[in-house]
Amino acid sequence: QREDKTDLYALLDAAARWYENELPKSADAQAYCKKRGLDAATIQRFRIGWAPAGFDGVIKALGGSDKRMHLLNEAGMVASNERGNRYDRFRERLMFPILDRRGRVIAFGGRVLQSDQGPKYLNSPETPLFHKGRELFALWQVKQANPSLARIVVVEGYMDVIAMHQAGLPIAVATLGTATTPEHTEVLFRAAPDVVFCFDGDRAGRAAAWKALEAALPRLRDGRQAYFLFLPDGEDPDTLIRKEGKDGFEKRLKAATPLSEYFFSELSHDVDTASLDGRARLAERARPLIARLPDGAFRDLMAQELEKRT
Ligand code: ATP
Ligand code: MN
Ligand code: MN
Ligand code: MN
Repeated sequence: QREDKTDLYALLDAAARWYENELPKSADAQAYCKKRGLDAATIQRFRIGWAPAGFDGVIKALGGSDKRMHLLNEAGMVASNERGNRYDRFRERLMFPILDRRGRVIAFGGRVLQSDQGPKYLNSPETPLFHKGRELFALWQVKQANPSLARIVVVEGYMDVIAMHQAGLPIAVATLGTATTPEHTEVLFRAAPDVVFCFDGDRAGRAAAWKALEAALPRLRDGRQAYFLFLPDGEDPDTLIRKEGKDGFEKRLKAATPLSEYFFSELSHDVDTASLDGRARLAERARPLIARLPDGAFRDLMAQELEKRT
């Protein structure tokens, strides 16, 4: 483990500034931002930038010495080919800096402008500063907008977070191309007592929601509440806000399903609770999960509810 990471933070901040500076120089990137409805204030608040074409933009700008090249590598900003030559990891991508909870740049996500240009999003690899299982995109912006938050919303993507903030809902964060981990849920509940997990209505979204539920179970104490919001298939918060506006999306948020309801409906979906056999199946599934809840009123009431249903 590195002791002093000041130089890494400084390098990543310089990289973010360089990408920010490149954005106005690219007509394509500007047009894309416009197409996605990103206004100037949002671009500034999220420090959105542009990684230009070419293999040595960042290297030329920031890799002036062996020591700097070594740092660029450690920060995940360069990759190397089989001959050991280093090149810019991010090329021709719209760049979203990932900030830690103190507002420092620790990584990047980069999006291609067109779908035939490789994987849609590319994230920095794990580095001494960036641990995907712990970090949440835009948590810093959420805290800046509201230090004492009643509710925080977890959405799937960068653009979903940004669309919500721009629409006047600066309460959204996203995991970074990974499932919700128990560490994430701890960070979330420290930020707000109510956490809404918002996922696409497709199969992947449903699987992700159940993962999030499992991650949340051991954290549900002291009146903390988790909710689940499933969106219509084919929509995400970004597209829905465009269609329904802030008010429409807020309505959906208010109607989110409490964890207890989602829990029992998901576990009962193929269970005939009219039969003893079905009720046994439900009990077998639910018991070990309820056992993961911390001692407290929520656990007691969930156990009672299971008894009632079985
Ligand atoms: P957009 O609206 O820009 O098309 P999105 O956020 O709606 O993007 P999704 O395909 O719904 O994109 O993916 C949700 C999130 O999953 C992304 O924001 C990104 O964090 C992650 N992701 C998607 N595709 C990839 C990929 N190929 N590699 C790594 N992460 C990805
Ligand atoms: Mn999806
Ligand atoms: Mn989207
Ligand atoms: Mn999406």
